[in-house]
Amino acid sequence: MSKDANVQGSMTKPPKQGWLYAPSPEATDNVRLAPRYELFVDGKFSAPASGKYFPTVNPSTETVIAEVADANEADVDRAVTAARRAYEQVWSKMPGKERGKYVYRIARRIQERARELAIVESLDGGKPIKESRDVDVPLAAAHFFYYAGWADKLDYALPGRRARSLGVAGQVIPWNFPLLMAAWKLAPALACGNTVVLKPAETTPLTALLLAQIIQECDLPPGVVNIVTGAGPTGAALVGHPGVDKVAFTGSTDVGKRIQRALAGTSKRLTLELGGKAANVVFADAAIDQAVEGIVNGIYFNQGHVCCAGSRLLVEESIHDVIVRKLKRRIEHLRVGDPLDKNTDVGAINSKEQLQKIRMLVESGVSEGCSIHQSHARLPGRGYFFAPTFFTGVSQSHRIAQEEIFGPVLSVLTFRTPEEAVEKANNTVYGLSAGIWTDKAAKVFWMSRRLRAGVVWGNTFNKFDPTSPFGGFKESGFGREGGAAGLLPYLEAV
Ligand code: ADP
Repeated sequence: MSKDANVQGSMTKPPKQGWLYAPSPEATDNVRLAPRYELFVDGKFSAPASGKYFPTVNPSTETVIAEVADANEADVDRAVTAARRAYEQVWSKMPGKERGKYVYRIARRIQERARELAIVESLDGGKPIKESRDVDVPLAAAHFFYYAGWADKLDYALPGRRARSLGVAGQVIPWNFPLLMAAWKLAPALACGNTVVLKPAETTPLTALLLAQIIQECDLPPGVVNIVTGAGPTGAALVGHPGVDKVAFTGSTDVGKRIQRALAGTSKRLTLELGGKAANVVFADAAIDQAVEGIVNGIYFNQGHVCCAGSRLLVEESIHDVIVRKLKRRIEHLRVGDPLDKNTDVGAINSKEQLQKIRMLVESGVSEGCSIHQSHARLPGRGYFFAPTFFTGVSQSHRIAQEEIFGPVLSVLTFRTPEEAVEKANNTVYGLSAGIWTDKAAKVFWMSRRLRAGVVWGNTFNKFDPTSPFGGFKESGFGREGGAAGLLPYLEAV
């Protein structure tokens, strides 16, 4: 869609020039990426039996960063066999106290290589360096630290019972938080005594492969963690492999349903963390400027590439106009561009396909009659970028209010009473997260009891902590990651 089509219906005048920032790119000279990455199986990097490789592209420049092995069924089989052997011969027999030391070591090594990991995350995935540096990488380390502490205390996770590991976990993750999702999956699985075959997303495999190097550096016994790269067919081969005891998937609801169907009738345990269409509910008694910052953080930072992004804004009718006015001003000041620039707020969209999907849904919003408001940020000439956008005049049946856009696009709806806010917030097939902005704590509790969402934030948004469980209701999936609850999918009680 052309820039002109994008701003169709916009009521904003081009703003006076906002603050100008000199470019402040993160130096990348200490990062040495190889031209080619192999599979990490049985403690070693090895070429795929498929003989095939695929490129991974920098979405902000559309240039190829490296080529990555494309694992086929034979490669997946080799990885699962290595994981089984490591489980039976080493990992399941090792005392929790010893396992915990390995998990702790991974956390320390992530901290030591944090700068490099953050740069590669932004290069491969397009997210702003300040997000990967300040959020993704520290949280990934925090997950390993947290679960390292559980490794010798697992019986306390199941009061009155003894805890036992399950075996080999097959884990498939998406592109929005590549390293953090790998940490969410690996840390509890390893602490509980399972071995793992992990498949990162095909558009963001690099930080998982750096994590494979870290696992090697930490001397984990060969086969305890295996990392296979590839696209959907590799993921399907992994989750369908008969040697896998537990499947953990984070990704789209469509693929999640497909996996659930494929696993029906097997004894494999399954957890799914799927899409979301979170409501950010702002009451008239909220601190309005804080709420606007929370809204911006909830949808625009990270390009809206967050399954729990606050993509539906529900505002109390009496403050609709003031919120819209403030939002219009605020989005003009968001800096869109080079993910490696330390001042960038909104980086690159992860892939061309994702950009096309965002454009298609934004066009549907325009053609269904909603009013579009878009930042006048000048987008870079190359790369996949989309200007921060919001729609007003949205009703619940519009596609932009129902479908997950996974981009920097917000739909604004209104409500008059708390009951109406609950009804509208719950009017979605998803149920991953929600936010409530109000001066009254009682209202937060009243609302959070009624919202069908796994996580409810009060006067904040998109805050994560390894001690706190995360997961969905309804078509957002089942099972929890994080906290003591995050151990349960990887344990059985005996
Ligand atoms: P998104 O829309 O977030 O890209 P996907 O569900 O398409 O989500 O992808 C999430 C992960 O699932 C990726 O690692 C992808 O390669 C993998 N995947 C895609 N199709 C399948 C499948 N049929 N079985 C298992 N994994 C799959």
